[in-house]
Amino acid sequence: MGESHPHPRAPHHPVLHNEYCINRRQRLRACHVCREVCPAAVYQVPQGHEPKWENCLNCGLCSAQCPARCITPSKSEMRDYLFAMMEADLPTISCGHSSAEGMLQVSCVGAIPWEYLAYLSVTHNVVLYTGECEGCLSGHGKECVATTLGQLEKFHGGDSTHVIVSEEAVEEPQDLRVRSSVFLGATKRGQDALAQAYSDIRSRDYGGLVFRKMLADLLDFVSSKAEMPVDCVVDLPQPNERCYGCGICADICPHGALRVETEGSGEAEGSGRVNASLQAWKCVGCGTCAIVCRRKAMEEPSPRAVPTLRSVELGEFFVRVCSQCGRPLPPEQEGERCVLCLRSRLSR
Ligand code: SF4
Ligand code: SF4
Ligand code: SF4
Repeated sequence: MGESHPHPRAPHHPVLHNEYCINRRQRLRACHVCREVCPAAVYQVPQGHEPKWENCLNCGLCSAQCPARCITPSKSEMRDYLFAMMEADLPTISCGHSSAEGMLQVSCVGAIPWEYLAYLSVTHNVVLYTGECEGCLSGHGKECVATTLGQLEKFHGGDSTHVIVSEEAVEEPQDLRVRSSVFLGATKRGQDALAQAYSDIRSRDYGGLVFRKMLADLLDFVSSKAEMPVDCVVDLPQPNERCYGCGICADICPHGALRVETEGSGEAEGSGRVNASLQAWKCVGCGTCAIVCRRKAMEEPSPRAVPTLRSVELGEFFVRVCSQCGRPLPPEQEGERCVLCLRSRLSR
């Protein structure tokens, strides 16, 4: 996956991975999120995706708010995020309008990818120092902060106590440092292990999913130490009974999260079994799979509690398959063969 940015872009600007953009994947529903949140009119979507980087203020709102995770923070910002992540005992993050200074300074709290805050808040309480959040970044900042905090609260199953938002410096009470003694051991050793594992983070290519990958690794680590799964809530799509296993949704998924596989059942000729699953850390909940399914057989992503961000089974069901090639047959298709096999037979 290469970085695609057709216009000159300074190293401190965000990086746009055009190939993941929802508008590149389908034309049924346009996404304008980056254009809406950007205070500097950098993005021209959905008509074209040729960012005017010369206008960019480096606020980072676009990278945190893009639903498909196709915009990543600049490499220098990434380095600051990762450094803070490894060092933090009491993670404090401040925006430029706050009177208190956090260990990590950002232009706006809404410019922090929520997965980054989720990572920190699995083991620690996180303190966010904001300004008054009025009129920030042409009025977009407040909305973006609310979206980010909403995502985070959902991830923790509706619990908002993991993050403390304050306009003033917060004293450091003991119970603020680490939320659970179970996690204390995990955190000390875990931070070392993760620092080691991610020392070459910039040479790895997870596109816009790097914090999600780290979050999945951390949850695995904490679960293994606690000897029980650490539930979290993420938005996942769900196939319904109209699905016949064509697999178009899986082909179109920008991050390759979804798998729809059909096997012959072996019980009766012409019948098969569809298995739908996804890698939850790769599923950003963008909904592209639901948009492209013309049979309305994929439900829009909705909150789902999962014990892991690895493989999640979405369902298994029986379908008719072509008696010649084994591809699934649409329910309305008559006969035993699919259109492709019928066509190739006729052309012979
Ligand atoms: S926010 Fe992301 S998915 Fe939406 S148009 Fe912009 S780059 Fe594409
Ligand atoms: S960093 Fe801010 S100014 Fe630059 S493109 Fe993104 S939203 Fe626009
Ligand atoms: S599975 Fe669907 S919602 Fe998840 S990333 Fe892929 S297209 Fe988006």
